[in-house]
Amino acid sequence: MDPIFDLELQDCPYCGGTGCFEDEGGWCLYVQCLDCSSHTAEFAYRNEAERAERARQAAHIWNIGKVIRPNPGD
Ligand SMILES: [Zn+2]
Repeated sequence: MDPIFDLELQDCPYCGGTGCFEDEGGWCLYVQCLDCSSHTAEFAYRNEAERAERARQAAHIWNIGKVIRPNPGD
């Protein structure tokens, strides 16, 4: 079980959808809404310890609502 999935994620600040960790091929991760695709910035990491720290940062950024909308005009 991946330890980053133990981190608590609030609902999406825009649509109330479910936030989920996305891992970009083992070099960075971010949190993305499963419903509207809003997402946090990407957090790059170089090893497992750094990955866990970046996951905590991404969860925090998501939970305080610093989330990028894919289509602000919609
Ligand atoms: Zn959303």
